[in-house]
Parts: sequence; structure tokens; C-alpha cells
Amino acid sequence: MKVDHEVMTIFMTWNEVMEKINNGRKTLFIPVGSTEQHGSHLPLYTDSLLATHISTSLAKRMNGLVGPLVSLGYSPYHLHFPGTVSLSSQTLKSILLDYISSAVNHGFERIIIIPAHGGNFKAVNEAINESGFSNVESYPDFERFSEIINQPALKRGIPRELVGAHGGIGETSLMLYLEPDLVRLDKLTKGYVGNVEKARELMRKQGIHTVSDVGIIGDPTLSSSEMGKEAFELLITELYSYFNKTINKL
Ligand SMILES: [Zn+2]
Repeated sequence: MKVDHEVMTIFMTWNEVMEKINNGRKTLFIPVGSTEQHGSHLPLYTDSLLATHISTSLAKRMNGLVGPLVSLGYSPYHLHFPGTVSLSSQTLKSILLDYISSAVNHGFERIIIIPAHGGNFKAVNEAINESGFSNVESYPDFERFSEIINQPALKRGIPRELVGAHGGIGETSLMLYLEPDLVRLDKLTKGYVGNVEKARELMRKQGIHTVSDVGIIGDPTLSSSEMGKEAFELLITELYSYFNKTINKL
């Protein structure tokens, strides 16, 4: 799926940004991804691409704009693998606080942060609380977020152990739908298959390489673009209705 450059401020001049804000595009989406290993079949930028796709889709529906991607996240448990770059939670929070204070002075009436990587949710939620601006929000529940991504596979009767988590069927299917050219189909391989919660806990404690030597939880060989499309549409529907409800609280 092509990312829609039309709503992304990075491709505009400042005059164009100002004009769009003045014409009513007063909601800014901030995609927050990561640069971390996602197994041998997905690029390091997987979460960053997902955050960008979600943000542009929502911005189009909600008459908003998308700001620059924060492409580095909190990813210490992936550092064993080359290419991974991790910020501390504190650094990520500081970046977000500076980003928010840059944006609020330009006329945006609402800022929505889209964190597509589990490790980022905590820093994002803390930054929102500490920002001192009441018009900044996010989707706060990572468990629900990943549940939605896994729904199409679970609905088809694929056991949770195979659906997995990091680099598993959910994320791989999303990438097959959103960025098919970036998925190395010849490198698809089974990762850790077993109790997902235990695997995630171990990952957070000792690094994902102690769970799976390819860096994957689940069996992504069972992924499909069809499931990815379904998951993406479910995600957009959920986030769209969530942010339509929260607007009344601002
Ligand atoms: Zn990911």
C-alpha cells in the first residue's frame, strides 16, 4: 500500500503547512516506530513503517497532518542483533516532549501520537502526562493493539503459540499487505513456538535472542497479505472510533 505523501508535513514547505493548518487541518499525528530486528524476513524499519501507514490513513480520515516519524524507540531487548538502535525510555520521552512543544505553537489544536512498537507505549504515555498540554493524546493500550493485529489469525483457528508476537504472523501479515516488496519470502522461518506470555517476559528480562536465535516469537510462515489487510482495517477502525470518542474530552 502506498504511503500518502499528501498529508505528510516533511514533504511540504512551511507555507504549505501553515496554509493547511489555517484551512482546518488542525490535528497532527506523530508516528513513533523503532529501528530494531524483526527476524530474517522483515526489515528493521517494520514498526516505523506501520506507524507511518496508520498515521497517514487516520490523518486522511480525520482531516489531519502527519509530522516527522520518530524512527528510534525503546528496544533494549533486541540489541543483540546488528542494526538495532535503542533509545533509553528517558531519551524517547524527552524527544517526544520537545516534539510536542514544537508542534503546539503552530496552531495544531490536537496532537495524536501513534506508537506502533510495544516498548514505546510507556514513554509515550508518560510524555503525554508530563507535557502539560491537555490536547495531546495517544492510544494507550498496547495489549489491545497487538490483540487486534492477531485477531485475523486467531479467527482462522491458528493457535496462539503459532500466531506469536514479535515478527510473528500478525506483523508479517501486516507487512505482506502494506510493504510486500520488503518481506523476504525466502527467509521466512519459524521462531519460538510455545507460551507467548512466557516468551515475552523472558524477552524483556534477558533479550529476545535467549528465546529465539532468529529473533521471532511465533511461526510467520503461516502469514498472508489477506490477514494483514484485515488486521490493518480493524486497527484503523478501532483507532478512528477511539479518537472520535476522546475528542469530546479535550
Ligand atoms: Zn514490530
